[in-house]
Amino acid sequence: AAIEPKGEPGIYDVLKTASDYYRQQLKSAPQAIAYLKGRGLDGKTAAHFGLGYAPAGQALKQVFEDYDWNKLLADAGLIGEDEENHRRYDRFRDRVMFPILNQRGSVIGFGGRVMGDAKPKYLNSPETPVFEKGRELYGLTQARAAIRANGRVLVVEGYMDVVMLAQHGVEYAVATLGTACTPHHVQKLLKLADEVVFCFDGDKAGRNAAWRALENSLEYLVDGKRLAFLFLPEEHDPDSYVQEFGRERFEEVVTQDAVPLAQFLLRELSAQVELDTEEGRAKLVHLAKPLLAKVHAPAYALMVKKRLAQLCQLELSELEPILSTGQ
Ligand code: ATP
Ligand code: MN
Ligand code: MN
Ligand code: MN
Repeated sequence: AAIEPKGEPGIYDVLKTASDYYRQQLKSAPQAIAYLKGRGLDGKTAAHFGLGYAPAGQALKQVFEDYDWNKLLADAGLIGEDEENHRRYDRFRDRVMFPILNQRGSVIGFGGRVMGDAKPKYLNSPETPVFEKGRELYGLTQARAAIRANGRVLVVEGYMDVVMLAQHGVEYAVATLGTACTPHHVQKLLKLADEVVFCFDGDKAGRNAAWRALENSLEYLVDGKRLAFLFLPEEHDPDSYVQEFGRERFEEVVTQDAVPLAQFLLRELSAQVELDTEEGRAKLVHLAKPLLAKVHAPAYALMVKKRLAQLCQLELSELEPILSTGQ
């Protein structure tokens, strides 16, 4: 688990130093500035998120005079070591840098984006004693006040989604860090707001991510909280959508088109069966059963069961014993 500064002061210090350096470097990196401008980002937003630039080569040598032996640099995930010649190298080279902050605002890791077509497109910090991807949400520090004020948190896939939404005035978005939305994430999100809206990309990967988020949410549903899923047009992600259609339209679709979790669940399962046959309806019950078994929220569970019963042309009283048997 991530330990706060007391336990591992050194790691936080080197991460902060590196982040300050990357931020400084951005000012004298015209190609990186041009890249960000080309993507529609303004300087104010870049500063708000502490964006930076990691130069090519052993850039961190400029910053850490003990580069070649400082163990903390490796522990922090900032440098790697060539196994053959034991030469150290900067993990992030010639990339635009997105610092990832924890709840206290300390830098715990980075995402770095290439400016061209090289692979991988994004490089993230490895797991370290202070950075556990399955628990952290990018942009939460910046979004916290807006999440509270709106009673809503929006979960997106990417760094640029968070940053560009904020630039357009949608300041309550956070991103998972290139991982699925984990149970830890869900629990954290439900503590932050009464309404959680997942808004992943309109592509196949995004739709798969939405289903994983649903599976990881069922156990933590609470009566009175709303979880919903917004599906953007196939070719869009939140960044491209807000840039093309603007804040008002984006917030309109979040409010009007986001599908409540129960509806998403039954819609996806129904699509896998033929509802006009008895076998199909039996299969629907079979598919829904293990998922519904995870739901503890009593009112929520009951409503979903009622809808399921309708779809399967059963009475609730007929369905319930089937759902509660052991197999
Ligand atoms: P951009 O708009 O900068 O092209 P994106 O955020 O739209 O990027 P996607 O391909 O939609 O990129 O991926 C969503 C998120 O998944 C990224 O923001 C990043 O956190 C993560 N990701 C994407 N590609 C990789 C990769 N190769 N390695 C690690 N994480 C990645
Ligand atoms: Mn995508
Ligand atoms: Mn994108
Ligand atoms: Mn995307």
